[in-house]
Amino acid sequence: NREIHLASRPQGWPTEDTFRLVETEVPTPGPGQIVVRNQYISVDPYMRGRMNDVKSYVPPFALDAPLDGAAIGEVVASEAADIAVGTTVLHGLGWREYALLDAAAARPVDPSIAPVSAYLSVLGMTGLTAYAGLLEVAAMKPGETVFVSAAAGAVGSLVGQIAKLKGAGRVIGSAGSPAKVERLRALGFDAAFDYHDGVRESLRAAAPEGVDVYFDNVGGDHLEAAISAMNLHGRAAICGMISQYNATEPPAAPRNLALVIGKRLTLRGFLVNDHNDVRAAFVRDVSGWLRDGTLSYDETIVDGIENAPEAFIGVLRGDNLGKMLVRV
Ligand code: NDP
Repeated sequence: NREIHLASRPQGWPTEDTFRLVETEVPTPGPGQIVVRNQYISVDPYMRGRMNDVKSYVPPFALDAPLDGAAIGEVVASEAADIAVGTTVLHGLGWREYALLDAAAARPVDPSIAPVSAYLSVLGMTGLTAYAGLLEVAAMKPGETVFVSAAAGAVGSLVGQIAKLKGAGRVIGSAGSPAKVERLRALGFDAAFDYHDGVRESLRAAAPEGVDVYFDNVGGDHLEAAISAMNLHGRAAICGMISQYNATEPPAAPRNLALVIGKRLTLRGFLVNDHNDVRAAFVRDVSGWLRDGTLSYDETIVDGIENAPEAFIGVLRGDNLGKMLVRV
């Protein structure tokens, strides 16, 4: 079994020295436990925050211990009455080839419904984040203009498409390269721009009538531009601020927060974990859209657990189209 440990806490960007590949024995299950051979592991931007030794909504990763996070795989050994060998399960011990866990910590899924990787992307936490953030947190209504940042990423690409499917009037996305902008147009975004061309000017041109809903994955200058472009009673779902995850200085933007008052804006932060109440509606809607082909999802797959650190740095750098996954 090979697993990735946290070797040091990064200052700024993580580097190769942040991680260590460690070989251990394949574990054997005790009573009530299972061993899972991971097939896919998720690498997520939020994990950067867990590399810092600070108190947050999830505890920090421990030094010289394996990292963890969402993963899916097949049960290869079981001492649990209710989970048989061969079952596909979703669980929280990624960043390793074999995971030992209590059966209660694993959720069996049906691998015949969708490719197993989809349970980490469109049908998983990623999809629910997009769905709940847009429809519940920002309460998007039909006819509204929606702007989403990191729009070619896992969450953002679903936000834009779900907005269209739920009747948004106009959907605008920003991303970091011409190829990504092209992909957004193919996914049905009404307008898309490369933020390297200037967020504020590009957003103004793309949304001449203003923005009603902003889905923020980036923070900083994106949030500032959105606040400027937002209409009276606009709502922002604050999902992530990836532009700040590796920052060593506090951000300069947004400098225009006072506009929130006159425009009566709502900026509302959220965590996907608090939105299990919409899970049933999410699964129903998303499986329907996948079946009839109206919803597309991209995945960027990196092979080999030894390449998980590179995949993780890659997601922070923007190497991915859609969900970044490691195939073990
Ligand atoms: P993505 O697939 O969107 O990957 C991150 C993307 O961010 C990169 O591909 C890159 O694309 C973009 N990016 C990186 N740095 C910058 C920057 N400085 N300015 C603009 N864009 C940048 O990741 P996820 O879909 O998994 O996550 C998206 C956001 O949602 C993250 O902020 C994450 O933390 C957050 N999140 C929050 C959750 C919650 O419960 N609140 C749950 C899940 C995710 P590009 O090439 O376009 O720059």
